[in-house]
Parts: sequence; structure tokens; C-alpha cells
Amino acid sequence: MNAAVAAAAGWTRERCAALDAAPGPLDGFASRFAAGPPGTLYFDANSIGPMPADAPARMQRVLDEGWRTQRRRAWNETDWLAQPRSLGARLARVLGAGPEDVLVCDTTSVNQYKLLRFALQLTGRRTIVVERDVFPSNGYVAQGVAAARPDAGIVVRAIDSADALPAALAGGDVAVVALSHVDYRSGAKLDLPGLTRLAHAHGALALWDLSHSAGAIEVGLRAADADLAVGCGYKYLCGGPGAPAFLYVHPRHRGDAWPAIAGWMGHADTFAFEPGYRPAAGVGRFLVGTPAVLANAAMGAAADVWADVDPAALHARHRSLTDTLVALIEARCAGFGVELASPREHAARGGHVALRFAGAQPLSQALVDAGVVVSARKPDALRFGVHPLVTRHVDLWDAVERLHGLLADGRWRDPKYSGETV
Ligand SMILES: *Cc1c(COP(=O)(O)O)cnc(C)c1O
Repeated sequence: MNAAVAAAAGWTRERCAALDAAPGPLDGFASRFAAGPPGTLYFDANSIGPMPADAPARMQRVLDEGWRTQRRRAWNETDWLAQPRSLGARLARVLGAGPEDVLVCDTTSVNQYKLLRFALQLTGRRTIVVERDVFPSNGYVAQGVAAARPDAGIVVRAIDSADALPAALAGGDVAVVALSHVDYRSGAKLDLPGLTRLAHAHGALALWDLSHSAGAIEVGLRAADADLAVGCGYKYLCGGPGAPAFLYVHPRHRGDAWPAIAGWMGHADTFAFEPGYRPAAGVGRFLVGTPAVLANAAMGAAADVWADVDPAALHARHRSLTDTLVALIEARCAGFGVELASPREHAARGGHVALRFAGAQPLSQALVDAGVVVSARKPDALRFGVHPLVTRHVDLWDAVERLHGLLADGRWRDPKYSGETV
């Protein structure tokens, strides 16, 4: 395969450049992110998204004005305590949630624990349904909820795929179905509205992990009537390494129920220091302890970008980019044993595009050496996490050009690429 084959399929670098030049509703957003080093192409938004351009200045301000100067007074004189809610309000648009539905705090795994326990309490049922082969933490957290209460008879029912959901729900005993919207390996997307409806038809709640869809595609939580959701702040949402995660709770579930971890920051009157717990109104009760102020400063830079993004435009851009990537790979790399591992139809995928290749680990390292930052997942997946606000169509062309070069001359087989990486 060579450039002539790609051209025969109708693809040229000029065509990619024309797609980038066409005016659209996301024009100007790329410039709100810091440029990486020249020559390096990043496809790791599924792992750590790009840095908002003003994140360093915001962090510096918290260090200088907040920590060094105001010190303890900053709790009163700044928005530090309000950030979990105010960041959540700014992320709400891209999640299709209401501004009061979302809280930014803790990690995805911790939030998953909080909401699984909450779902058991709300429904009075004891069965949690999870997919067997998803991001491991989702399964571990569910297993841990059951193991911690051996007396309570909590059951984790693992299913092989969403196709098994009707049978798993049939007994009418399921409290909550915990699903990943987009699979962390294949990029396959589940039908969030349809499976939420299915759960509801059996009296169960739906808890969605949006780690690989939030900030990449349209999510539409309220439109789908989703009950609960969690997701990462550091992937497509671009909150920075170790950014706090988010959680979403539909307003119908925010009555008087206690959160699983009743902490002082989730109390109705934190600084009254009452001995008895009273849950804060709404989603605020899911806050446990002191907010991660430094991390929230970086997250705030990202949240301000997201507040301006039209989710439908984000979705359309993701489609254009990932469809282009799939077409280029099929046109240029098909003869080398590279296969598309993600669904071909955009409607059935989200987040990254995954390829299947027997030498995925060494090839990913050779690509990084060639300035194309991708990630591999065992046993044979290579993941291209494009970012709809930042990645350009010409970046895809250039990356596939370098991928083709490595495959064609076999450089990826060099023993120096045989080690393990994260
Ligand atoms: C990345 C990821 C997580 C990470 O969870 P943390 O607790 O924030 O580290 C959780 N779930 C899924 C599906 C992920 O892809």
C-alpha cells in the first residue's frame, strides 16, 4: 500500500487540509489549548487530554495568591469550597446534564463506589449487574461493595455483554446496572438511552461510566433519563494528570437519602460542626472531604472551555475525525495485518479508534519514537485517542503516513521496542 492507494480511495493531504479549513462551530477552540512540542502528534486524549492554555497561570495564581498570601483566609475569600459544584455546573452542558446535577470530586472509582451503594439503598434491592470484561476498577468496586457486607447478601451478577442484560434483569431483583458507555479497549459504544430504558422497565437504576465518552462525543444524560453517572476528569475533559472525577445524580434521586460516605463537606451546614449528620441539598451531599484545590485550578481551565462547547458540534467533529482516521488506515495499512478493532459505524463507537495488530506493544513504542503518541492495551490493541477540539485532519494524515512507514520498513521490530510501557 502506498500514497497512490490512498489517493485512489479519494484521500490526499490536501483533502484533509480542506476539512480543517472549512468553517465550523468549533473554530477557535484549538487555540484555547497549549501546543505540544513541534513535530509530535498526540493521540492519547483517552489517557491524558491536552492542556488548556491558561491552566499554568491559574495554578500559579492559587499558589501565589491563595496559598502563599491568603493562606487560611482563602477558604472564605475565594471560591475554593464552591468549586466541586461550580466545576460540575460548567461540565454539565457537555454531559447533557442540568447545572445542579454534577459534582467534581474524588476519583472515578471512589465515585463509582458512592453511587453503587446509593443505588442499593434507593432501590432496596441487592443485585448489581456489571459487564465482566470492562475497565477492571468497575468490577473491583462492585465486588468490594459485596465483600464488605457479607451479611447483606449483595450479589454481583457479571454479564459477558450488554446482549445478556434482558436475561440478567428478568428476575426483577436488580438494583443497578453499571455499564461503561464506551469500552476502554475497543471504543465500542453502548446504547445509553436504550439500555437505560431497559433497566427502568425492570425497576433497576442505570449507572454509566463516561470515562471514554465525556468530552469526546455527545452523552445526553438527561435526555436519556439516566439515573447516575461517573467519569474521569483527566481524559477527554482535559483536567490534567490526576484531575478530580465527576459524578452525576438525576434530580429525582436527590430527596432525603444519605450518601454512602457521609462526610463533613457533604453536610447541610459544614461549619456548624454539628454532631449529627444532615445531608446537604442536592448533589452536594456526595462531596466527602476537602476539595483538591490545586487540581481544581487546572480543572477550572478545562471547565471554562467545556461550558462553551455545543455537544452536537463536538459529536459531529468526532465523527469527521475518526471516520477519516478509519478510512486512511484502511487505505494505507490494510496489507500489514492491521485491522480495525472498533466498530466501523460511527453510531456504534465513541472515544478512541482501536486497531488490532499482533505487535501492538512494540509498534506503539516505535510510533512514540516517530512522534506519534498512541497507547497499546494487551493483548493486541493499539489506541488512537483523537481530541475533537484539538486534533486536525492533517494530523491524522501525517500520523498514518508515519505508521505506514514503520510497517513498510519493519522498524517496529527493533528489539529496543520490546519492553513494557503503561
Ligand atoms: C480511566 C478509567 C477509570 C479511572 O478511574 P480512576 O478511579 O479515576 O482512576 C475508571 N473507569 C473507566 C472506564 C476508565 O476508563
